[in-house]
Amino acid sequence: MTADAVGDVTIHSFLGPSLNTGTYVIESSASVVVVDTGYRSGDPETFRAAVDALDKPIATVLITHDHPDHVGGLNTAFADAPVATTAAVADLIDAGDRDIEILEGPFMIDGIEYVADEYLDVEARAQMVVTLPDHDAIFTGDLVFNETHLFLTPHLDRWISILEELQLDSPSRVYPGHGPPDDPSVYAATIEYLLTARAELASASSGEEYTAAMIDAYPDWEEPSLIEFYPRALLSQPAPPTTER
Ligand SMILES: [Zn+2]
Repeated sequence: MTADAVGDVTIHSFLGPSLNTGTYVIESSASVVVVDTGYRSGDPETFRAAVDALDKPIATVLITHDHPDHVGGLNTAFADAPVATTAAVADLIDAGDRDIEILEGPFMIDGIEYVADEYLDVEARAQMVVTLPDHDAIFTGDLVFNETHLFLTPHLDRWISILEELQLDSPSRVYPGHGPPDDPSVYAATIEYLLTARAELASASSGEEYTAAMIDAYPDWEEPSLIEFYPRALLSQPAPPTTER
């Protein structure tokens, strides 16, 4: 884990080896808050061990969205911890027999102010974004990917406009759903990727051609396997052969 000391909290970042998923710990004086739980191949267990090494109780696990690479450890490595998220995300996740605390707007944990916002139908059906207004930090979930190929959905235009809005007034520390923490330049980089993907989808005549174009455009980005999740409906199709003459 890497750590940023921000006033009276320390924000620890743990990048899961599978899919470069970003998971985080917000450490305050008496407890820790966990953001997402990792994917598979032991990532959740390794992350939990790092959380336990801080030797403070888990106040809650915040879940940004329901995708398996973010809830992988929710009912295993983090099965004993309280869970909280926004209403629409809560409807989509399985927390076993635990009650999920529903978040909306500002809330306090260990004297630290958090703000939860929910976005529907972007990268996921529902996504929670958490801001720490007094600590200049935002946890974007999968609205932002950093140097990691994006998991695309058909909602590219909406995704771009939300990022354009977020970057106008963003905290300076951005903790993305995939890839390492960065500054607000990651919004523009994510928008650029979405625009490139949209253009390549419109011009490619096959999935293979699209995949090759994105690897060519972003040769250094991690997890090219994520390119395969492109929205098929956005791919241009060659004109069907005509039977008329
Ligand atoms: Zn993800």
